[in-house]
Amino acid sequence: PGWKSSPPNQLPGVASRPRIRVLLPLPLAAGAYDYGIPPGLQVAPGDFVVVPLGGRQLVGVAWDGATDAALPASRLRDVQQVLDAPPMTETLRRFIAWVAAYTLSPPGAVLRMAMSSPGGLEPPAAHAGWQAAPGPPPARLTPGRARVLAALAAGQVRAGAELAQEAGVSPAVLRGMADAGLLLPALLPRGPAFAPPDLSLPGPALGAEQAAAVAALRAQVAARDFSVTLLTGVTGSGKTEVYLDAVAECLAQGRQALVLLPEIALSAQWLERFRRRFGVDPALWHSELGAKTRAKTWRAVAEGEVPVLVGARSALFLPFPDLGLVVVDEEHETAFKQEEGVVYHARDMAVVRARLAQASIVLVSATPSLETLNNVESGRYRHLDLPERHGAAGMARVQALDLRKSPPERGRFLAPPLVAAIGQTLARGEQAMLFLNRRGYAPLTLCRACGHRMRCPNCTAWLVEHRAQKRLQCHHCGHAEPIPPTCPECQAPGTLTPVGPGVERVVEEATLLFPDARRIVMASDTIPGPAAAAAAAAMISDRQVDLIIGTQIVAKGWHFPGLTLVGVVDADLGLAGGDLRAAERTLQVLHQVAGRAGRAEAPGLVLLQTFNPDHPVMQALVSGDLEAFMAAEAAGRRPGHWPPFGRLAALVVSSEDEREADRAARDLGLAAPRAEGVEVLGPAPAPLALLRGRHRRRLLLKARKEVPVQPLIRDWLARVTLPPSVRVQVDVDPVGF
Ligand code: ADP
Ligand code: ZN
Repeated sequence: PGWKSSPPNQLPGVASRPRIRVLLPLPLAAGAYDYGIPPGLQVAPGDFVVVPLGGRQLVGVAWDGATDAALPASRLRDVQQVLDAPPMTETLRRFIAWVAAYTLSPPGAVLRMAMSSPGGLEPPAAHAGWQAAPGPPPARLTPGRARVLAALAAGQVRAGAELAQEAGVSPAVLRGMADAGLLLPALLPRGPAFAPPDLSLPGPALGAEQAAAVAALRAQVAARDFSVTLLTGVTGSGKTEVYLDAVAECLAQGRQALVLLPEIALSAQWLERFRRRFGVDPALWHSELGAKTRAKTWRAVAEGEVPVLVGARSALFLPFPDLGLVVVDEEHETAFKQEEGVVYHARDMAVVRARLAQASIVLVSATPSLETLNNVESGRYRHLDLPERHGAAGMARVQALDLRKSPPERGRFLAPPLVAAIGQTLARGEQAMLFLNRRGYAPLTLCRACGHRMRCPNCTAWLVEHRAQKRLQCHHCGHAEPIPPTCPECQAPGTLTPVGPGVERVVEEATLLFPDARRIVMASDTIPGPAAAAAAAAMISDRQVDLIIGTQIVAKGWHFPGLTLVGVVDADLGLAGGDLRAAERTLQVLHQVAGRAGRAEAPGLVLLQTFNPDHPVMQALVSGDLEAFMAAEAAGRRPGHWPPFGRLAALVVSSEDEREADRAARDLGLAAPRAEGVEVLGPAPAPLALLRGRHRRRLLLKARKEVPVQPLIRDWLARVTLPPSVRVQVDVDPVGF
């Protein structure tokens, strides 16, 4: 036994103990801290170690880089223990450092995402357990502590929650015992291995274009080197079938495959398909996993026992020993952007992860982002396209329904041609879907007498009526209140009126119009989790439902053979506001919704209710010429150097005090970097100028493509001293602005 890599620095000529840097899963700006290595302990970068910090014991990762020779040995505390876990690979350490540097986040905050639970491995975190410290226990113990030690047989490791429950003590007692040296943190034993996928099962017979795409992807995976491929094709063209074959190749190579899906909770049908293709379930990774499953999955991944994993964006940070393929399905989806904590785009970071792992990455979409298309154009990414729907199925016919020419009846939201089409579809025994990307009953509640609008006290947002719960709710902060009997402004009784439709109101109208149709509502409040989503999908596939009404949940990759009509209640909804990508995103969402209609069995029809039938988005959807639309988008953004032809970073300054927020934003504005090819816009009110009680101002840094913005922003922030009550959130490559 010896050092697994080069020993850490020692003071020359001084008989001091060796040192190592340790990164802790905490958002500390300082990054890694130095610790001493006591005699007899061997620590190398990547090892999971227990170290003291303040009065706590924490689990961190021995990190790379030189220790600070100037730190006197007397100030140095020691690594206490090396955990029996596979060390974090150098690839993953480099990835963590890269993400931290790119997003301007503390490395420890990124490390936290690479540990199995939000608390990292900090005892008693979910996937860490406890074991009794060696040696005889002290003679005098409180009864609770004695019960804890009694519950731990020698050498046994138990999960914190379980142990606390069995011993009848609170988690604080376990922590106290750890601080007193009676308990040591330890990793839980690993769970059963994941069954290996069966690579001998035949996939479907591929069409010629699919076969060509599969051959190209297989060759790339077999090359065991970094490459990025964009895989496009309309919904139903067989993209999933193609990339599952690439997964098979990766597994045949003995490397691990990772598939990122934007909303894993809505992926029951996808999982079923995986099962059919490979005979087993893939490992899963998403925020709704229980602590125990997370712990076991994390450990199994680290040990190389998970050949293929399907996950949400955070799965990128799992410790795969030899990742060979990453697939990002629906690469254009904004769900891949994490907006809180470490602000990052999982699609972009996935490319970096693949590069560091020398893996292939496949970005998949019917409506790729302009960023990705631009990378294809410049030759950085390869492009494979499946030109048609698989088999005999054609694309659904899309028509714009001009609301100016055929308006709905007063107080209604479905125009007569749409109502008629629904009637005909139901009469044929087929299914219809209505899509409105807005939860609740009405987006605005207004006093008919004085015009007062009900707004959230904590946010710049109207309160949304949820009729079932008889409440007004804020969709940003969770504030909720009963609908007042009188107007809070003018005290008039019963004058508060719902304005505009939410999905509940569409349901109400559909119920009136088609009382005999069997309905299902798909929105986040009616479909709270994966099980409910799977059940809903099964009901629809089994034709137990005639009419599907829902928010963006219905747009996901569902395959409903009986569905032939899709009505978009408000196709203009996403176009309002000054967002650079409003048109692009509206096109992506509507194309995806439209893709639900019609398969081989029956042709589909999509009706878009709009006040702007001439808008390029509507025109593109009607003509099906998405390429021309994206070319026009590119032409619009290129001259002004807007992304992807230039860089953007947003600094959002916030404070509970409005004047303080203004002052801080102004001070930051005055200190803005001045450099060639760089421009700072603002400060201006952020899109949600008040959010959860904090006033928000935004500065946008816009730079030419060749300018690295991170050092500029770091220097900028260093030049300004802001009060501690002011927060600055940096968002490199913001998506909503
Ligand atoms: P996409 O991912 O592009 O939306 P899918 O891969 O989901 O397309 O394919 C659409 C439908 O066609 C699915 O039901 C799929 O099972 C089926 N399909 C795709 N390719 C084949 C094939 N080669 N043979 C038989 N069925 C196929
Ligand atoms: Zn609110």
